[in-house]
Amino acid sequence: AAITAAEDGARVLILETAPKPYRGGNSRHTRNFRCMHHGPLGPLVESYTEEEYLADLMKVTGGKTDEHLARLAIRSSEECLPWMEAHGVRFQPSLSGTLSLARTNAFFRGGGKSLVNAYYRTAEGLGVDVLYEAAVTHLELEGDRVTRVDYTHEGAAKSLSPKSVVVASGGFQADTDWLARAWGPAAKNFLIRGTPYNRGVVLADLLDQGVAQVGDPTQCHAVAIDGRAPKFDGGIVTRLDCVPFSIVVNKDAQRFYDEGEDVWPKRYAIWGRLVAAQPDQVGYVIIDAKSLNLFMPSVFPPIKA
Ligand SMILES: Cc1cc2nc3c(=O)[nH]c(=O)nc-3n(C[C@H](O)[C@H](O)[C@H](O)COP(=O)(O)OP(=O)(O)OC[C@H]3O[C@@H](n4cnc5c(N)ncnc54)[C@H](O)[C@@H]3O)c2cc1C
Repeated sequence: AAITAAEDGARVLILETAPKPYRGGNSRHTRNFRCMHHGPLGPLVESYTEEEYLADLMKVTGGKTDEHLARLAIRSSEECLPWMEAHGVRFQPSLSGTLSLARTNAFFRGGGKSLVNAYYRTAEGLGVDVLYEAAVTHLELEGDRVTRVDYTHEGAAKSLSPKSVVVASGGFQADTDWLARAWGPAAKNFLIRGTPYNRGVVLADLLDQGVAQVGDPTQCHAVAIDGRAPKFDGGIVTRLDCVPFSIVVNKDAQRFYDEGEDVWPKRYAIWGRLVAAQPDQVGYVIIDAKSLNLFMPSVFPPIKA
């Protein structure tokens, strides 16, 4: 948004609550994006149609998807890739192995950190100003306009009155109290593999002022990650890829789902939620040593017995 506004001649200021090394929220953690395309496009092979993409999405959400919004996002994904390339993002062919995604997912060279750095470089080249450790606390609404932005910076409370405001401050997943209101006490045991800075401050402020809610707070993308990962910011390396080659039990040594139902991508999207529903939100993956080399290794070594 900042880049496009600056390209159209606007003076732009980004207020980022994180310090510079942690700028870019969860986008910093990403690896690839799913992209519709009618023929080979950038690193993507063959084609991936709107209908197939929508069907994949519906499979993962069990039909709990706003079709209008989904189609909008899917259709615009095709023009997104060339736009990204034109603004400094580089792509690479997908990895082989369990991630056979060369047709559906475009991988960023250098991951999300490079993606975010490329956007910041492009934005700064266009004259966009950035304030780090600048936390927005309140947007003053008058009718459908934001008339004042309150934020803190270097220990002081400050305000701005810009002509327009784009809110892109992520979700509330780093606020475990809010998660617990949506998910119950189990949420206190969740490990948040993304940024600790997305605490939903601006979202809550807007909802409190009567702005319409579109999303459903009980819906989320939860993946199975290593229970030894840090509470926040562990990133994609904490993900466990061994589920389809294993038997997964809960702490009472009971199996709770068909581990081999789907190798990818549904398994990736549903197992966090399945583990979240188990006692203490814990699962144990038991693997025969023979299959140890069939998946990406876990960042923490497995316990052998
Ligand atoms: C580990 C991980 C891996 C992922 N991998 C992928 C992937 O490969 N592909 C994919 O499509 N999706 C992936 N996702 C999901 C993806 O990261 C998010 O959907 C996407 O980044 C959301 O973008 P956003 O711009 O809405 O928010 P973010 O990128 O999170 O940006 C929000 C920004 O707002 C700032 N902010 C928050 N509150 C305030 C405040 N009060 N004042 C000022 N600034 C504030 C934050 O610091 C941050 O910079 C992944 C998520 C995680 C956690």
